[in-house]
Amino acid sequence: MPPPMKPVKEIAPSIYQVLLPLPFALRIVNCYLIRDTEGWTIIDTGLHIPEGPQTWLQAFSDLNIQPGTLQRIILTHYHPDHYGLSGWLQSWHTEQGFPPPPVFISAIDGEQAHIIIQSDGRQVSVLMDFFRRCGMPEELARLLTEDIQKLHRLLQPPPNRFHILSPGETLVVGDYRFHIIHTPGHSDGHLVFWDEASRILLCGDHVLQHITPNISQWPTTAANPLGRYIASLKQLESLPVQKALPGHGPVITDWQGRLQELQHHHEERLAHMYDAVQPSASVYDVATRVFDFPSLSYHEMRFAIAETRAHLEHLVHLGELALSENGVWRYEKSSQ
Ligand SMILES: [Zn+2]
Repeated sequence: MPPPMKPVKEIAPSIYQVLLPLPFALRIVNCYLIRDTEGWTIIDTGLHIPEGPQTWLQAFSDLNIQPGTLQRIILTHYHPDHYGLSGWLQSWHTEQGFPPPPVFISAIDGEQAHIIIQSDGRQVSVLMDFFRRCGMPEELARLLTEDIQKLHRLLQPPPNRFHILSPGETLVVGDYRFHIIHTPGHSDGHLVFWDEASRILLCGDHVLQHITPNISQWPTTAANPLGRYIASLKQLESLPVQKALPGHGPVITDWQGRLQELQHHHEERLAHMYDAVQPSASVYDVATRVFDFPSLSYHEMRFAIAETRAHLEHLVHLGELALSENGVWRYEKSSQ
């Protein structure tokens, strides 16, 4: 048996990375603990699978963190792998007689979490309707919608309430003074945290080194998430980042280089999607031409569909495709 992976390491002064396991191909979400004189701040939380709380308890034991010393929980965005254990971390405090640490998130993603995660299944019909409009066969739409219910069990208990973080504010944790920046794309309300003195950026899932962040257009997503994502990559190009601490995968050290690679990736993906619209196509048609669809898990199929829709919508915004709708969204090349 290989030795158990040590889940905690100090990755920058007073910043500890905690590796939380995930039951997906992605395998791990990177969460962070930051120490200051008053106690600890958590950035992102993992999913409520049995190994999740075990990993946090191991980290707390390694760093001698007692209940009552967690000051706040910060979520970079509302996605399940980042949000999922925020309520459990609060209950770890309340069960031992301490007040729960407040959970902070952007106003936009707090609203998304309420609609999508905390709506007791009301999203089922919305999602079925979305998959139908994407042109997906009815049986597959049903399977993908049913499968998402499993995820909801991994997000219990929910946090008691959200406190709001606003872009432009400064979050002071120990010696760090993090400037809060809104970076829409991966989610509408995604936030990153920039400390100018150390040139450290907590970048959530906005920029990842080993994979390209998923940019999806769901029923609740604001218009053209890919256009807003590319704009927010450009906006961050001028930051002199020395170390970006991401939500998945290794620390990013070549910041400008990675931003350019991501922009290039989306240009290529847009060209593939454009070519796959021949002469007209639904979202599902394009997704099955661009992705190796049958080899994907249901979880991955959902992302492939929503990512395809984000790219096709961006091509509509650029004037390269035209959209018509008759129960199913159909795209065709504007020049034809
Ligand atoms: Zn993530």
